[in-house]
Amino acid sequence: MSDQELLTHQLYINGQWRAPRQEQYDPAYDPATGQVLAHVAKANAEDTRDAIHAARTAFDSGPWPQMSPGERSRLLHQIVDALEARQGEIADLEMANGGCTWRKAYLMDIPVGLLHFRHFAKLAASEPLEAVPQITFPALSYNFVRREPIGVCGQIIPWNFPFLMAVWKIAPALAAGNCVVLKPASYTPLSALKLVEIIHDTGLLPPGVLNLITGPGGVVGNELCTSPLVDKIAFTGSTEVGRQIMQTAASTVKKVTLELGGKSPNIILDDAELDIAIDGSLWATFMHNGQACESGTRLFVPGSRYDEFMERLIDRASKIKLGLPADGNTDLGPLISASQLRTVENYIKVGLEEGATPALLGQHPTDPELAHGHYISPTIFTNVRNEMRIAQEEIFGPVLAVIKYDSLEDAIKQANDTIYGLAAGVWSASLERAIGVANKLRAGTVWINDYHIINAEAPFGGYKQSGVGRELGTWGLHAYTEVKHIHADLSRTRQARFWYDILLPQIGES
Ligand code: NAP
Ligand code: MG
Repeated sequence: MSDQELLTHQLYINGQWRAPRQEQYDPAYDPATGQVLAHVAKANAEDTRDAIHAARTAFDSGPWPQMSPGERSRLLHQIVDALEARQGEIADLEMANGGCTWRKAYLMDIPVGLLHFRHFAKLAASEPLEAVPQITFPALSYNFVRREPIGVCGQIIPWNFPFLMAVWKIAPALAAGNCVVLKPASYTPLSALKLVEIIHDTGLLPPGVLNLITGPGGVVGNELCTSPLVDKIAFTGSTEVGRQIMQTAASTVKKVTLELGGKSPNIILDDAELDIAIDGSLWATFMHNGQACESGTRLFVPGSRYDEFMERLIDRASKIKLGLPADGNTDLGPLISASQLRTVENYIKVGLEEGATPALLGQHPTDPELAHGHYISPTIFTNVRNEMRIAQEEIFGPVLAVIKYDSLEDAIKQANDTIYGLAAGVWSASLERAIGVANKLRAGTVWINDYHIINAEAPFGGYKQSGVGRELGTWGLHAYTEVKHIHADLSRTRQARFWYDILLPQIGES
């Protein structure tokens, strides 16, 4: 396709597609081939302020926050219907722009994203009122809590699950009655643009309720985090940028939810069912090339089962097939970028220098079809000690660190010895034992005999430096609400209000 034929994507502000003020555009690439797929608007701070202003006006004087929960829910259900009808368009962009394999896009990312959107469309209907237990002191009063939208939400998302992350941000925010400015990652704007295009085509949202701004994180993201017109920042990405966001958002004391990095432990108990645990551990680590924040990248294997487990694990891992994402036979596609590939190659070097054993060493494919993509096959390091960099630092690539253990107590201690706390896995034939271990792990999600299964109904988020707050479930909806307590006195008479006497005794007394 010639450059002229490529689509040019604009900014979406106040219900309209609009060119960026400086008329600059960046290419969006296919990480499997290096081909340019489209040109995407590069917003500056002023464009970002335009979008924030549109969201502010929509929130302060538009119908969306005032709408009844039932009406908002009805509109969101219609939006999900429209997304479902065009889900193939989204899936194709997730493959082309994100390196997501056909199987992952069609079996997981897009259908799961739609399920999660539907979940929030349903939750939107719940009455935002909660009872408070009857209060009789200092006198009878009627009390209740109203959950209200926070206001304008700046939402910044990463490149690893571009559609799912966009849904996790906008669906709960809209369900609770907020207005949104969404900033996709610069590598992967195309499925988020498609999502917004489909929503725009429905004509269901009032202008300014949903805005999309593409452009560099340092400029657009920074403007969102510092603007006094933005009430909340929701961010998913690196712990490093998360720390910066907490600081910049502090200048206006914004509500902040952060979903950051991880180095999640995955613990095999000595009674684990190996058929499941072996494929499950590979799924935990290598799904989407390890480019998932919750990946189970530190694998603890008991000495008593070690040889059998490792032999079978390496055998299964060596069968994982690299290929073009759109090919239904491909197990793993490319990494997102040349820089991510360099990071992975560098960590492999670090692991070798630290003295870990490369039981399986990542290779670049020789297939000429894959020559221009950012490909590397899985690496499995054994003889890893938990203090090594390859066991402590988030690699975000297909590299597994295996740690052999003798005492389960010691494995749990090592599992918790990390700055992160996003997720963990425990594999055992005994649910009692597994729950006992799960209770001791300092992580926001613990999977028992499974991994990566994220439900719309259950909360997701991190302990420690893996984040602040939770997404999904009612927890995720409540993260987009302010809590207002309304107290109505029922004692009525002045005489009953002895507490006023603290300041000013009643007439007739002295
Ligand atoms: P990143 O820098 O944290 O990017 C995530 C999002 O934040 C992107 O939309 C990015 O915009 C934006 N951003 C960047 N700098 C910002 C700033 N100063 N203020 C506000 N927003 C900002 O992640 P990355 O550089 O793409 O990847 C680096 C590492 O982060 C990876 O190797 C991985 O370890 C980790 N990571 C974690 C997750 C996760 O799900 N927890 C996801 C992605 C990456 P631009 O795209 O325009 O830079
Ligand atoms: Mg970055």
